[in-house]
Amino acid sequence: MRSILVSAIALALAGVSMSGMAATPAVASHAELATTQLPRSVRPSHYDVAVVPHADKLSFDGTVTVTVDVLQPTTSITLNAIDMTFSRVILTPNRVRVTALAPPKVTVDAAAQTATFTFAGPIPVGSYKLAMSYTGKIGTQANGLFAIDYDTKAGKKRALYTQFENSDARRFIPSWDEPAYKATFNLEVTVPSDEMAVSNMPAASKTDLGNGMTRVVFQPSPKMSTYLLFFGLGEFDRATTMSDGTEIGVITQKGLSSQAGFTLKSGSDVLHEYNDYFGVPYPLPKLDNIASPGSSQFFSAMENWGAIYTFEYALLLDPSISTQSDKQNVFNTAAHEMAHQWFGDLVTMRWWDDLWLNEGFASWMAARTTEKLHPEWHTDLDAVGTREGAMSRDAVATTHPVVQHVETVEQASQAFDAITYAKGEAVIRMLEAYVGPDTWRAGVRNYIKAHAYSNTTSDDLWREVQAAAGKPITQIAHDFTLQPGVPLIRVEASACSGGKTTLKLTQGEFTKDRPNKTPLKWHVPVIAQSVGGEPARTVVDGSATLSVPGCGPVLVNAGQSGYYRTLYSPAQFAAIKGDFAKLAPIDQMGLMGDTWALGMAGLEPASSYLDLAQATPADADPQIWGDIADSFSGLHQYYRGDKARQARFDAFARKQLQPVFARIGWEAKAGESDPIAILRTQLIGVLADLGDTAVINEAQRRYAAQDSDPKAMPAVLRKTILAVVARHADAATWDKLHAMAKAETTPLIKDRLYALLAVAEDDALAQRALDMALTDEPGATNSAGMISIVGFQHPDMAFDFALAHRAQVDKLVDSTSSSRYYPGLGGSSNDPAMVGKIKAFADAHIAAGSRRAADTVIANINYRMMVRNERLPAIDAWLAKNGG
Ligand SMILES: [Zn+2]
Repeated sequence: MRSILVSAIALALAGVSMSGMAATPAVASHAELATTQLPRSVRPSHYDVAVVPHADKLSFDGTVTVTVDVLQPTTSITLNAIDMTFSRVILTPNRVRVTALAPPKVTVDAAAQTATFTFAGPIPVGSYKLAMSYTGKIGTQANGLFAIDYDTKAGKKRALYTQFENSDARRFIPSWDEPAYKATFNLEVTVPSDEMAVSNMPAASKTDLGNGMTRVVFQPSPKMSTYLLFFGLGEFDRATTMSDGTEIGVITQKGLSSQAGFTLKSGSDVLHEYNDYFGVPYPLPKLDNIASPGSSQFFSAMENWGAIYTFEYALLLDPSISTQSDKQNVFNTAAHEMAHQWFGDLVTMRWWDDLWLNEGFASWMAARTTEKLHPEWHTDLDAVGTREGAMSRDAVATTHPVVQHVETVEQASQAFDAITYAKGEAVIRMLEAYVGPDTWRAGVRNYIKAHAYSNTTSDDLWREVQAAAGKPITQIAHDFTLQPGVPLIRVEASACSGGKTTLKLTQGEFTKDRPNKTPLKWHVPVIAQSVGGEPARTVVDGSATLSVPGCGPVLVNAGQSGYYRTLYSPAQFAAIKGDFAKLAPIDQMGLMGDTWALGMAGLEPASSYLDLAQATPADADPQIWGDIADSFSGLHQYYRGDKARQARFDAFARKQLQPVFARIGWEAKAGESDPIAILRTQLIGVLADLGDTAVINEAQRRYAAQDSDPKAMPAVLRKTILAVVARHADAATWDKLHAMAKAETTPLIKDRLYALLAVAEDDALAQRALDMALTDEPGATNSAGMISIVGFQHPDMAFDFALAHRAQVDKLVDSTSSSRYYPGLGGSSNDPAMVGKIKAFADAHIAAGSRRAADTVIANINYRMMVRNERLPAIDAWLAKNGG
């Protein structure tokens, strides 16, 4: 899946960083089986499924015949099933002229999400066919088979899609719904003849039944996990192209194919690249990417084999509103899901303990491929932001190892977090740099070849990479994946002698909330470099000395592939600051990340970050300024509720950012680079938040002039301008935006307008957005997001409101995600009372084993209160001294 962590529409709207998400301490014991797993006595190999959906009644009829092997004599068969009613269950030995066993007794365990069929006597070992007839439900949130209702110029439409990861195939087919039970699937559906049915494989036959219905039989799927099965149905268009003999398709609602051209071309480019990289060609005859209106609070896309599912905002480019960031997000999302076609679909983790093998790898592969195929976007610097997101999450007490033991469906759902995605990605980046990219790829190729159509654990990957590298890597890999936390490397440099500088490196642990913690130990690969010199490498195990060619300031973690923080002695930091402009942009970015985090945690002066920001030239890399703008926005938030001090900081921050914005301006200049286009939108958003009246007035002027002056609101600035207007809206403006939202018939734009109704700073308008979220007006999948967005500015209001209307809000969030959703609403609070409220909610409503997300929200609130109390005074003092 592409997690919402990495592409949060809501976070982008609200300008909030992604550090506030998820996770209880867990012990890494990945070889264990979960006690919730099915009995191992029966194993499926093939499913013949026939489904008749009744979209109008939100229900479906299903029949399935599963070919199973009984491996040990047993009197009962247990499989996964939820929200279904069985009308018939028959077990027949798989031999000719043998009759079925007497029908079993059926018991359903809703809590365990299982059905058990108990027979009169023991079933002997052998092969059988288990046939079941049942009815199931069509939901309105993205799990199981679900409906999305959306507006079009031709009126309201309803489409059906499936979403099964992590554990919702059991809502569609009674099945062995665990990733290790790979099987083949023949899917047959009976659907309205004027709609298009889509699945993992192309249709093998279509039979017109003469009553307005058509029976579609899809070709047999490859052997795969249940969570990768897909079915979609609606009034769709499909555009195709060929790449390396595979048909690449993009499926959209009718009439929108033209907005999918970039995805189609990207899919073709990426498939060619991956066929080469993985060394095993994509094995299915086609690869579709299905665009769906609507959204989920927790993911933006899903890697169903041969039938990727993506929400429209992450797949379509609407020429009237899409931006450069949207375009990059569309590419990165497609590249992530396509990487899963190998890492996840062809080779699958054995159990959710190793989920990171899917998600860390796909995230890393997407980033690498974006850099390679679109060098003009300069996304190489994004790796630093990803690592910062991971380290921020990994440095509080509620973190967990990358490989973690998962017992329940809810825990598996919570595993889709920043550690799994972003730390997973960062650790792979570090190991790739350690063994070299060609060696890493050779290891990956061998791994894919050895485990195709099968399941693995992390050690299967380490074994192949170590064999390819011819040097040990498993120890490093285990240190960073089986234990939590962030190494801290302290650096002392000796005077330069004989053209070399000797560094003394000592290892500790970086934490944000446990200053007296006994540090864990890692084998940390370190690369250091004097400014303009050759890099030197070592592995720090406790402590090390490293001789670095060249004199002058030495930068540790040169190239930023290492997953650790670097703390310099004060003299050394001063020397590096003096040469800041000479550092490579990625090292500037890395140094700023460390300086911010170490300063906020109290390991160096909190004001050091402001020193670096002041030392940054106006023509520095646009992403450096984007990063500074984000950090200023973060500090602005830390001052929330303290108007006078906030105003003093805002004035300083505006003074740093205004000259940069003046160089860029409101209008795109011919030939400007893509990162500049992104920085323009970032600066407008942040300057407006910092109270820059010129920027706010200009946004409002352009918004008001849009009808008379077509150039006032260019498409690439439309979202940005609307966001500023909506944030600063008065009641009349809000009413006008509301009228626009209501009248809009394009879901991609309509959804955005409803989200914008929730960003207003004004309390009364925020309350109106909350009230609206409980009506049918915004659409079933938009409402939960509206409440979350209100929460960024008004955490108490959003949290209290959701709790007061829990029965209604529960229907707006998919069931396995509510243990993350409710605590998150209070996540941006700086108030001890909110800690109490979230704790009380968790104690009352969240299972003891599923409180990691709630505990993490609390840890982050506590951390922010510490920063407010202990660091902001140092920032105030620095501002007083430096003309803030
Ligand atoms: Zn993914």
